[in-house]
Amino acid sequence: MRRMAIAGILFAFLFGLISTGAEDEPLKGFAAANSATEREWETKFRALPSPDNQREYMRRLTARPHHVGSAYDKENAEWILSKYKEWGWDAKIETFLVLFPTPKERLLEMVAPTPFTAKLQEPPLSLDPTSNQQNEQLPSYNAYSIDGDVTAPLVFVNYGLPQDYEQLERLGVSAKGAIVIAKYGHSWRGIKPKVAAEHGAIGCLIYSDPADDGYAVDNVFPQGPMRPSDGVQRGSVLDFPSNSPGDPLTPGIGATRDAKRLAIKDAPSLTKIPDLPISYSDAQPLLADLEGPLAPEEWRGGLPITYHLGPGKTKVHLKVAFNWDMKEIYDVIARIPGAQFPDEWVIRGNHHDAWVNGAQDPTSGQVALLEEARAIGELVKQGWKPKRTLIYCSWDAEEPMLLGSTEWVEEHDKELAQHAVAYINSDASGRGYLEVEGSHTLENLVNDVARQISDPETKLTVWRRSQLRQIEESKAGEDRKEARQRADLRIGALGSGSDYTAFLDHLGIASLNLGYGGEGESGIYHSAYDDFYWYTHFADTEFVYGRALSQTAGTAALRLADADLLPFEFTDFADTIRLYQKQLKKLLDDERSEITERNQEIEEGVFSATDDPRRSKTAPPHAAVPPFLNFAPLDNAADTLTRSAERYQAALKKAWPGGISTATLQDVNRKLMQSERRLLTPEGLLRRPWYKHMIYAPGVYSGYGVKTLPGIREAIEEKHWAEADSEIVRVAAVLDSESALIDSAAAELEQSAH
Ligand SMILES: [Zn+2]
Repeated sequence: MRRMAIAGILFAFLFGLISTGAEDEPLKGFAAANSATEREWETKFRALPSPDNQREYMRRLTARPHHVGSAYDKENAEWILSKYKEWGWDAKIETFLVLFPTPKERLLEMVAPTPFTAKLQEPPLSLDPTSNQQNEQLPSYNAYSIDGDVTAPLVFVNYGLPQDYEQLERLGVSAKGAIVIAKYGHSWRGIKPKVAAEHGAIGCLIYSDPADDGYAVDNVFPQGPMRPSDGVQRGSVLDFPSNSPGDPLTPGIGATRDAKRLAIKDAPSLTKIPDLPISYSDAQPLLADLEGPLAPEEWRGGLPITYHLGPGKTKVHLKVAFNWDMKEIYDVIARIPGAQFPDEWVIRGNHHDAWVNGAQDPTSGQVALLEEARAIGELVKQGWKPKRTLIYCSWDAEEPMLLGSTEWVEEHDKELAQHAVAYINSDASGRGYLEVEGSHTLENLVNDVARQISDPETKLTVWRRSQLRQIEESKAGEDRKEARQRADLRIGALGSGSDYTAFLDHLGIASLNLGYGGEGESGIYHSAYDDFYWYTHFADTEFVYGRALSQTAGTAALRLADADLLPFEFTDFADTIRLYQKQLKKLLDDERSEITERNQEIEEGVFSATDDPRRSKTAPPHAAVPPFLNFAPLDNAADTLTRSAERYQAALKKAWPGGISTATLQDVNRKLMQSERRLLTPEGLLRRPWYKHMIYAPGVYSGYGVKTLPGIREAIEEKHWAEADSEIVRVAAVLDSESALIDSAAAELEQSAH
């Protein structure tokens, strides 16, 4: 930036807000004088987080298993509370009472043709000092599977997705009345028992294939970072995408002690069939004995067997029973009140509960958050006063399905809808590149922050390193051009899988999810081996990326807390909507041409001519060609949004930095705070009204994977054409409402420029 032309500096001086992050330009949203002060505080802040402190916090937090309801989960919450207090925060624990099933009985055996009993155990490893804490470990299981005792033939269903069952049908294999075995991966785990039940299966096993996170990728633990043969991925299978996350007995309301609860039998989000996760050492004998057609080539994994689909003589017996207990959970909530606008809240969170010892998930993120909190406490001692209130949250019960954060959000929904500025989340983090997903109204802010964070390995800014990676990974020339030329790097959209979900999807609070990753593989996810030994040998061993995460998330929090004008920005958002609009049209076009082509091939006899009678496959069914949809309302709304966003930027340039009265600033800030709320509808998404955001949602058939413009996109994917047309109208309406809000903010700025 040294070579910035004089004209450029003048331009920046006059128009302040077109900053690309140069050190001598005012920060966006800050009057020139305040910008200099803010820079000083942010610089002081970034010098404070210490990798060694993070290592010591992790050692303490992961010393014992700390799942929901365990003694050490509560001890950790109390320890975290004492730390916040020690660092000067006004902190307390908020307790909720939730349904959390734990295993009472787990039995999996092959009854024919070869008797075999699965061991369902993760043995201690002599090198790994916490792997022997078996009397405190939760056994491997999937939470919110129903109880069940079933015996049936086994069928291998690949990843267990809807398209896998279409293939099975063509191969003449039915899951009806069977127990299915699916590989982990390619969707959130709860999709597998859900889709299996939809196809008539009566039980579901999920295993980790070594091709995905075992020896086919790298050496296995403890020699390497990958999943050993007995490692099992625990996890929740609560059907949150079709219902809601959080305590399954109190959807939509806080799970306080006296909350009105559903009976367990009426909870809609429990699985429909019993489900159990297993290791590949337990899966191999079952799969090796399967008969029936050969598995399609892409379905085969990394085990030294020939993968067949079944069914055949292979029969398995699955029995699971759970203690359906209520457990107390402990959210640690810490505040520093805002000096000028105490009623405007900047919220930051990461969970503290784990499946077992949980070093990577969630402690790597939790220790970064704690170091931010310590550093912020230090700034306050040195005289810093945030304009707005900072709320730091260490959530409990994220693992069972976002219970701690969801219950807190539901309990405080009215205050949050009024006071929340934004929510910044993190969770498991590692080594490598800054990875960001979030509300696109904050895309510009997080880009500006990333331009100020130094990458520990290359000393480039983390922004520049991400940009160069995007250039390297671009497949098309167009993508490379965009990576080089677009002022801001695109951020991903938020699906689900961590604690931002209730903030964003239920209340419309603009959210960011931050973490580092992309270097080094990991195969210990949700197993007993995700522990201090693993993390300090194979992940961010020096905790320097932990420090970078503290610096990144903390800088974003400070900037939101101190800005004169909140750094929301709408041209990136409008540009993203245009991208989604294009994607949806392409999705429909592709579906049309695919179906047309397939119908033609059926008529030509392609399938019968190429069928191998010894490995016979039925032809796919003839399908109706999708009709044309009326995208005009969306096209018009996207156009209006683009113009409103541009008008706001122009008004800002004119009005800033001089001459905006405090009253106008406050008024415009209030509008900016509401901008994400405008993207909700009170009725929410069809068939899942807890989800109110019309732009982002987890997918009904992807789970954690995001569906953008979900009402339209899922209607097209599921071939509900009339619904797609009416959803286009609903999405257009929220975008129009957003444009009107942006216009009114722009109008205020235009007036104050006179
Ligand atoms: Zn986590």
